[in-house]
Amino acid sequence: MEKELSYGSDYKFIPATSIGNGVGISVLPDIFCYTIQIVNIIFAGNPDTKEFVLVDAGMPKSADEIIRVTEERFGSGASPKAIILTHGHFDHVGAIVELVQKWEVPVYAHELELPYLTGKMSYPEPDPTVEGGMVAKMSPLFPNEPINLGKHASALPLDGSVPNMPGFRWIHTPGHSIGHVSLFRDSDRLLIAGDAVITVRQDALYKVITQEQEVNGPPRYLTTDWPEAWNSVKKLEALKPAVAITGHGIPMSGEPLTNGLSKLANEFDKLAIPDYGKYVDGPLH
Ligand SMILES: [Zn+2]
Ligand SMILES: [Zn+2]
Repeated sequence: MEKELSYGSDYKFIPATSIGNGVGISVLPDIFCYTIQIVNIIFAGNPDTKEFVLVDAGMPKSADEIIRVTEERFGSGASPKAIILTHGHFDHVGAIVELVQKWEVPVYAHELELPYLTGKMSYPEPDPTVEGGMVAKMSPLFPNEPINLGKHASALPLDGSVPNMPGFRWIHTPGHSIGHVSLFRDSDRLLIAGDAVITVRQDALYKVITQEQEVNGPPRYLTTDWPEAWNSVKKLEALKPAVAITGHGIPMSGEPLTNGLSKLANEFDKLAIPDYGKYVDGPLH
């Protein structure tokens, strides 16, 4: 019998960090962003009501930290109603097996992402040859085998709603991964972008460490379909987000966000698409 709730055999701690590691930011009264080493997790929900969800599940071996941060914000023993995944890359599902075991909560992702979350398909290998910095070079270390959440993983509802996140809708933003989604709340134009756009140059180790803020395309070493990734950025730009929380980097708002996003949407070929790399001429399937 297939073992339910397991990581891939290449699952391991990844020694990469940034000055943001361990920092929590209250972006809005009901939105809290917390950085695990180099990746963000987001709590959506008001601490007073204790009704909340977790968006994305951090780096490998970070479950104890995520549980501690959850209980600090929502009270001892608190658990979310659900975990929503923007996508299933290792740095967004790193603690999910322990979290699902402890909290017994459903996990939702786009249906095209489910094969990577239910042990059926490995992600394409990261590309260390892509144009870019040190993080790209160390990307062969990164796990790409599927985790298996078995029956705990379900597809996001087709009507665009996000379970336990009233007011939000999910938007299919493929390119970085096939079933990547971003989350948007129309009432305050809050965008949770996952890795469709990020606010740090993720392939460059120096910029990851210092978290220098700039609107960027998706991490290069793991993006497999650049035309789709460009379309997704145009989709997000058209939403005119007021605030964006991205999978990597510090949340951004106002003019730097608006200007950065429109520049990226217009000049994605120059700014985001690498000059060379094994996925530049189209996805390998
Ligand atoms: Zn990713
Ligand atoms: Zn990521």
